[in-house]
Amino acid sequence: MMNYGETIERIYQQLLLEKNYGQVAGYIPELATVDSDKFGVCLINRENNCFSAGDWQEQFSIQSIIKVITLSLAYQKLDAQLWQRVGVEPSGTPFNNLSRLEHDFGIPRNPFSNAGAIVVCDVLMELFSDPREVVISMLRTLAADKGIDYTEAIAASEKSEGYRNMALAYFMKSMGNIKHEVEDVLDFYFDVCSIAVNCEQLARIFMYLAKHGRSADDQHSYLSRGQAKRINAIMLTCGFYDEAGDFAFRVGLPGKSGVGGGIVAVMPGEFSLAVWSPRLNEKGNSYRGLRFLEHFTDATEITIF
Ligand code: GLU
Repeated sequence: MMNYGETIERIYQQLLLEKNYGQVAGYIPELATVDSDKFGVCLINRENNCFSAGDWQEQFSIQSIIKVITLSLAYQKLDAQLWQRVGVEPSGTPFNNLSRLEHDFGIPRNPFSNAGAIVVCDVLMELFSDPREVVISMLRTLAADKGIDYTEAIAASEKSEGYRNMALAYFMKSMGNIKHEVEDVLDFYFDVCSIAVNCEQLARIFMYLAKHGRSADDQHSYLSRGQAKRINAIMLTCGFYDEAGDFAFRVGLPGKSGVGGGIVAVMPGEFSLAVWSPRLNEKGNSYRGLRFLEHFTDATEITIF
């Protein structure tokens, strides 16, 4: 069995010696207060062993990483029908881009753009009477941790400044691709983005994508094998805003980032790896998180390519 622990510790120490670049996400006021030099790593392998370093037990805001979970829940129920409301093509534009959406007549390019994730939230509100409970209980079950929860202060903070997301949602409503009241859909969207997790919880949660749709303990099936393949493919092609190509090039794993500074990457059949470092590069991805993952797949030679 690969000794991930040593490799993680070595790269972690090496990066601590390097200058850390980037800014924390300032556009959500509550996120701007985070200590920008926090740095945590946790890998869960298929035998369920945990390898970690640094601030891996500290909680941070999941932000866009939740889009993978909401997408999985919608896809599990609707299967290919879901693609009538949202596409699966990389957009090559920033996560909150407006002009592309107008060009595409209100059908977002992919479920990981903000517009796409807002549509998926609208879909979940149609599918479940209490979608907040469905999302949080999926996370709690996968992480085997009942403590995971929403963070009201983050959701309220994002709502207070969420004009761009409102613009996206109202535009899609005008094109008939949002069925519920825009405010209700956005409240739900801001709530799911506000959930707090630590690196270990995040790595545990994403094991279902390393295990082809099944939970780490094999007790629950979330996606069929074919569906898990497709979600991993969307992570690879669309998981990093307009830096998805660069992430595939440098890291070579499906993954998803969030503006809270988290990144989770998955090696199907092998492991799930979560990294957190709040300073973001100009594309909105964790600077140090990306560096870590690039070094990690170079060192271990474990990548999907
Ligand atoms: N809640 C954030 C927003 O809508 C998510 C952005 C992200 O993490 O990419 O702006």
